[in-house]
Amino acid sequence: MIREHLMGRGIRNQAVIKAMREVPREAFVDESLAEQAYEDHPLPIAGGQTISQPYIVAYMTEALELHSSDRVLEIGTGSGYAAAILGRIVSTVHTVERLAGLAQSARQRLELLGYTNIVVHEGDGTLGWPEHAPYDAIVVTAGAPELPKPLLGQLAIGGRLVIPVGASHDLQVLVRVRRIGESEYKRDELCGVRFVPLIGTAGW
Ligand code: SAH
Repeated sequence: MIREHLMGRGIRNQAVIKAMREVPREAFVDESLAEQAYEDHPLPIAGGQTISQPYIVAYMTEALELHSSDRVLEIGTGSGYAAAILGRIVSTVHTVERLAGLAQSARQRLELLGYTNIVVHEGDGTLGWPEHAPYDAIVVTAGAPELPKPLLGQLAIGGRLVIPVGASHDLQVLVRVRRIGESEYKRDELCGVRFVPLIGTAGW
């Protein structure tokens, strides 16, 4: 997985590669899917949701340009896999999931695996998580119709937001927004992606 799907497709950040090597993806999917855990495609998890393909997790994590002291917010905990990758790289991760069952099982799984720097919250992540803002990086792992304003407001100056944005439910462009001043943001478009919808007040 690391050599072929990640490095072979251009992932270069050493901290990202190390984290992807260390986190056992099979621990985040149903036992019946464990054999497929290191293939480069998304897999189903509970609640009709999916765990993203490894390449996309690595790509989005690299795009966040993380430093080890960063405080990161993830929207869309799902299985907790992407949160575990982030937790290997930065000091603190807050992750928000709207489905109670997924939030609960991700919390248990991350605890069993020994993560102490990841906090799983249940709620509508389109509103961010104001209590611990501002964040150095925010990553959204579900597709939004447009940039959720609360997330822009919770970025630290210099912070990066990586989010799939698109007018259709299942096809988006991965966008990176950098906050360069109090009310100044710079936006780049990275690549085409396909995520489950971000459902909530500032989402679908
Ligand atoms: N990062 C996950 C993949 C998540 S799939 C992993 O590594 O497994 C997207 C997730 O976003 C789903 O679990 C879905 O329930 C959740 N989601 C959708 N809208 C949301 C919202 N407004 N707030 C929080 N989570 C949301």
